[in-house]
Amino acid sequence: MEPNVVGRFAPSPSGYLHMGNLLASLLAWLDCRALGGTLIFRMEDLDPARSRPEYAAAAAEDLRWLGLDWDEGWPDPAYAQSRRGALYEEAFERLRAMNLVYPCWCTRAERLAAASAPHPGEAVHDPGCPCARLTRREREERFRSGRRPAWKLRMPELAVSVDDGHYGLVSQNLARDAGDCIVRRADGVYAYQLAVSVDDLLMGVTRVVRGRDLLASAPRQRWLIETLGGAAPAYCHSPLLTSGAGKLSKRLGSLSTQALRQTTSPEALVGRLAFLCGLRETDAPVTPRELLADFDWARVKTEDIEI
Ligand code: GLU
Repeated sequence: MEPNVVGRFAPSPSGYLHMGNLLASLLAWLDCRALGGTLIFRMEDLDPARSRPEYAAAAAEDLRWLGLDWDEGWPDPAYAQSRRGALYEEAFERLRAMNLVYPCWCTRAERLAAASAPHPGEAVHDPGCPCARLTRREREERFRSGRRPAWKLRMPELAVSVDDGHYGLVSQNLARDAGDCIVRRADGVYAYQLAVSVDDLLMGVTRVVRGRDLLASAPRQRWLIETLGGAAPAYCHSPLLTSGAGKLSKRLGSLSTQALRQTTSPEALVGRLAFLCGLRETDAPVTPRELLADFDWARVKTEDIEI
């Protein structure tokens, strides 16, 4: 058994959890429990416009209903990203002191035009905007205009690899393959890459298990955590569930757990997930605890799963 294993669930309460979220959560639970670790429930309610308390409560209820427990976390406010702004601010100021962030006055439309289309599993590549190259004087002039800038992280020309526990080696040149990314929006809200890295660092997370659409973010998160003086966790990404329309998504209104709960039992749903991902050969009811006995990542599929 590895010492001090810490895993986490990190849902975003921007909609009801769907089956893809449940599969990632089940695998995070199995991974952590199989290693005798501590599991944290962190609420990623960063974006005030998209997060709703009823989705947060439903996410916790859904995981409990499924039979997944955790040791610490939400609703303790210390585990809600919306309450952790001071910690993100502190990390941001440290990055600023290292000259790793710069203000960006581009509009959202300009930023999107500068980035290639996002595909599941790929980073939105931002080749850098004119704001990255402003002189000190130009910058001061823009600050004087009164329009508040967003802040971007300046990615270095640096090769960073993550040896993913399920997908193997992911190597990126951060400047070329990941690109600069927003860490603080113009409205002051901190962005995903910064918040998740700061949280994984400060919460002592040693194993990150989540959907493989975030695999391409792992090298920059590793770099960010190490730049802030921490040790990066091990990453282990899980296959995505897809339907005709692509990856299941809360935004697309994919079948929610709340709806599934009306027609199925938790054991039947766990059994279905275990069958779909390759942990069981038949689609039969099972509990998460029963799956623990012979849990092995080697049996989990790597290709995405059509449902
Ligand atoms: N909050 C993210 C989501 O629900 C997951 C972030 C992560 O696991 O790093 O998609």
